[in-house]
Amino acid sequence: MLPTWFWVGFLALLGAVVGSFLNVCIWRMPRDASVVQPPSRCPACNTRLRARDLVPVFSFLAQGRKCRYCRSPISWRYAVVETLTAVAFAALYFVDGPTAALAFDAVFVATLIAIFAIDLEHYIIPHELNLVAAATGILRDVWGRAITGAWSHPTALGVPGSDLELIVPASLMGLAVGFLVFLTLGWLGAVAFRREALGGGDLKLAAAIGAHLGWVSAVASFLLAVAVGTVAGLALVAAGLRRRGKYTPYRYIPFGPAMVIGALVVVYSGPALVSAVLSLWWPVPAPAVRSWP
Ligand SMILES: [Zn+2]
Repeated sequence: MLPTWFWVGFLALLGAVVGSFLNVCIWRMPRDASVVQPPSRCPACNTRLRARDLVPVFSFLAQGRKCRYCRSPISWRYAVVETLTAVAFAALYFVDGPTAALAFDAVFVATLIAIFAIDLEHYIIPHELNLVAAATGILRDVWGRAITGAWSHPTALGVPGSDLELIVPASLMGLAVGFLVFLTLGWLGAVAFRREALGGGDLKLAAAIGAHLGWVSAVASFLLAVAVGTVAGLALVAAGLRRRGKYTPYRYIPFGPAMVIGALVVVYSGPALVSAVLSLWWPVPAPAVRSWP
């Protein structure tokens, strides 16, 4: 059994390296460029960056936030994403312990960080990221089935006209509920605002969050997202950063990033907060949440 400090240190280092790769995704994915080729270059002077220029956080600080070759300033985003991913990975140790669940959660959290940064700046969510997020949820469920011999928290759906029951794994149920909730919200928004209110990316992200968190926790994360999105939207308007009408109503409220915050809060806070959030809306005590291995 390795000590806690080893795991936390290892996860922080791994997080910083993954964060460095996320920065590549955040820059290239909205520009439809490959995230594996070619090697990184300075966007200002186009000099190919070497290993010593790419050490997470360290290079950024050692070079005084400037390109080593042309002295152009480097965006804070690089160091922020690397630091955030390092902290997020290390903190997962206290959520999952040294288990396989940690690996699935780490991929999910990394994907959410990239989605947050890309959606905030470009108002799009790349399909690949939603696909990776959904896949980790389904794989986590399948992995739990493989080691325990049973699906964790499946939903039994009665088949009408027979006494057959359909056992739906938590990840697929979450995927379906997330998708249907947002399909309904999008339709209601389109009727109310007479234009597209929710992007297809938001819909797929909702399905991916559902696949990873299970439907109950996913619904709690969506409610948190509505609260976060509303507060952030109003704050941005108050600060005069966004004028009404420039974006569709949902773009006016930054909803993809709000959904990411909602999902992250659920991942890190555990069942107590999910129950508290749901009990504000749910007339009965909130059921068990996100507890499959
Ligand atoms: Zn440069």
